[in-house]
Amino acid sequence: MLRVRFHGRGGQGMKTASRILGTACFLAGREVQDAPRYGAERRGAPIFAYVRIAERPIHERGIIARPDLVVVADPSLVAVPAAGVLAGLDAHGVLLIDSPEPAALWRQRLALAGEVISFDAGAPAEDRGALPFVGTACAAAAARLLGLVTLAHLEQAIRDELEGLGEAVVARNLDNARATFAQVAEHAGCVTPAPEPDAGQAPAPDWIEPGFDEARISAPVIHAGLTSEAVPTGLWRTLRPVIDYDRCKRCWWVCSAFCPDGAIRVEDGTPRIDYAHCKGCLVCVAQCPPHAIEARPEHAPAEAAS
Ligand code: SF4
Ligand code: SF4
Repeated sequence: MLRVRFHGRGGQGMKTASRILGTACFLAGREVQDAPRYGAERRGAPIFAYVRIAERPIHERGIIARPDLVVVADPSLVAVPAAGVLAGLDAHGVLLIDSPEPAALWRQRLALAGEVISFDAGAPAEDRGALPFVGTACAAAAARLLGLVTLAHLEQAIRDELEGLGEAVVARNLDNARATFAQVAEHAGCVTPAPEPDAGQAPAPDWIEPGFDEARISAPVIHAGLTSEAVPTGLWRTLRPVIDYDRCKRCWWVCSAFCPDGAIRVEDGTPRIDYAHCKGCLVCVAQCPPHAIEARPEHAPAEAAS
């Protein structure tokens, strides 16, 4: 499985980038999963989106902790610890960054062991109107580095994802994507899947393991009998079962047997509900054959029970 994480700021189209890459890989016959992750939507706030790509159905969920490729649309995010740009990026992972500064400088600056590639997403910082096109460029560059999709797949994905924005926007994004796809051609296929982690090798969570005690010590023992009598479960009730004795057929073995709390006692063949212990489950209402038990709101208790 290949795991890709896009980092950018709200408004740069990282969610769109993840969707375009995911759709392109899907069109190329892969199983994909893409999702953005951000809090309250704000332009300029750090966000990330991620894509998983595999040959077989993907059952893994959640944030990508160990990415094979990290794409950074805004280099200023690298210095923001909360953005988590470098989280999990090891010697195997590739960092792709939209920056005019050379990759070697970034590699040295960040002391990264893995490959670093810088590219130009084609949106000068002063051109605010071009910001939404950064996402398309990032998707195109990522697609090229993964080496899984053709330019035709990428173009189709862009059309599918952006068609609602109109022909002019789609055309400009297609131009940008073609240029970026060509720009990083020398790195095509440089991203490879990391060996799948062995669950047995996973580090143990930081938990406290209590020692094991024999059952005769650790199992609970109830020393006192009839303790349920002391618990007034009637306080839990929101609906009160009320027997209409005019309709009651005195088939007490039904309601008294079904009551899970033993709260229906029988006096001279007549069922009586013990409201101190009836918790209002209304099983008796459902089971009474002639429908002689009615459920009434607890705040309007009936008098019929007398
Ligand atoms: S099941 Fe209904 S009809 Fe029968 S004894 Fe109970 S309340 Fe009366
Ligand atoms: S409502 Fe539930 S607990 Fe109460 S008498 Fe009916 S069956 Fe028993």
